[in-house]
Amino acid sequence: MQLIDGKLLSKQIKEEIARDVADMKADGQKTPHLAAVLIGANPASQFYVQSKVKSCKQVGFKSTLIERGAEATEAEVLQIVEDLNNDPDVDGFIVQLPLPKHIDELKVTLAIDPKKDVDGFHPVNVGRMSLGLPSYLPATPYGIIQMLERYKIETSGLHCVVVGRSNIVGTPMSILMSRKAKIGNATVTITHSRTRNLKDILLKADIIIAAIGIPNFVTADMVKKGTIIIDVGINRVEDATRKRGYRVVGDVDFENVAPKASFITPVPGGVGLMTVTSLLMNTLQAAKGEVYG
Ligand code: NAD
Repeated sequence: MQLIDGKLLSKQIKEEIARDVADMKADGQKTPHLAAVLIGANPASQFYVQSKVKSCKQVGFKSTLIERGAEATEAEVLQIVEDLNNDPDVDGFIVQLPLPKHIDELKVTLAIDPKKDVDGFHPVNVGRMSLGLPSYLPATPYGIIQMLERYKIETSGLHCVVVGRSNIVGTPMSILMSRKAKIGNATVTITHSRTRNLKDILLKADIIIAAIGIPNFVTADMVKKGTIIIDVGINRVEDATRKRGYRVVGDVDFENVAPKASFITPVPGGVGLMTVTSLLMNTLQAAKGEVYG
């Protein structure tokens, strides 16, 4: 079993980005600039946005955080989006989800200029990704692709089972794994809460990508020997032995599945760390005009 080390990879990728940024600056080009919009005080969202801003600093990006209270109106948020679309200094921006319930997330996503949509959530980018055209890939799937590529895992012809069909992980992951590309060319099965006989399907998998949100859902009896395991789940479980009263576990029962796996991502220290790194990669591509020219 080989551990896919998200901590190490994300550090390496950030160093590569930092070198690129230093070269761009030395060349007289403008500093890549990522803006983040945070509406309301959801602690998880605050944590994610802070780590995005911190990561920008680490690689030498300029970052702007625009914060409004949970009472912000939809019109105000749409105006912020419009301003960012029109700000020539901003290369890319994200609107941290979820938004307060009175704001239509789809409407906000649709208002973002696809050229600046470094989260890759706009239907134009999803469509471009589906057609194999240059696009910003959604951060978590992009991070997983990086992990597979940098660990030189050959995916061509393998049976990849994706568990979960969310718009941000499961669905784009299934598209990326089936496309004709270096990491891809897999035969993909996408499964979800209505799937019957999930265990039988998982036992036929060469690669399992678990994005469910249920702690330790994938157990050793569901996995054949030699399977490549990508665990996307980030779940808090109570743990009185920890100072904060909980610990974070994935969707895979790591302890018992790892001995059967050929490769496996840990939680924490796996996919989660790659997600922010992917956002930086998309922002760098935006600053260089690599996706839309
Ligand atoms: P979600 O919460 O939107 O949906 C869960 C998916 O799991 C659904 O598609 C559902 O059909 C499927 N599902 C639920 N029960 C199932 C069952 N019994 N059998 C098969 N499928 C079942 O999904 P999400 O937003 O992709 O999040 C999934 C997990 O990944 C969560 O733990 C989340 O915190 C984590 N996550 C991690 C990152 C990261 O950066 N590592 C990013 C996004 C999400």
